[in-house]
Amino acid sequence: MGDAIKQTEESWRDTLTPEQFHVLREHGTERAGTSPLNAEKRTGTFRCAGCGQELFSSETKFDSGTGWPSFWAPVEGAVATTVDRSLGMARTEVHCARCGGHLGHVFPDGPRPTGLRYCMNGVALKFVAGPRK
Ligand SMILES: [Zn+2]
Repeated sequence: MGDAIKQTEESWRDTLTPEQFHVLREHGTERAGTSPLNAEKRTGTFRCAGCGQELFSSETKFDSGTGWPSFWAPVEGAVATTVDRSLGMARTEVHCARCGGHLGHVFPDGPRPTGLRYCMNGVALKFVAGPRK
């Protein structure tokens, strides 16, 4: 993407809440069940809390029972992945393709049609109700 956002860690600290900074910039994980977005069922778009890019549509959201907002597919091109070996196992980390903010992980145990489960930190997302523009 041509409009990749590069900000210093200092300027992210100014624009994000401490919780958002911890997840997006320090690869943190919010406590399960704490995000109000778990129960979000309206039609709308989940945007990056860092840069506002559209990441997931409500059409791909499902209740995974994990306590984190879960989706079976991102908006095309909106996220990128890397392999995260931090807990002694290989997990696929998901980040915003535009600002690089850490969003969560993707696991191969999701529902059809993709079989993927994008396990996201709600604090890294911003829900905007209404049809996609
Ligand atoms: Zn972003």
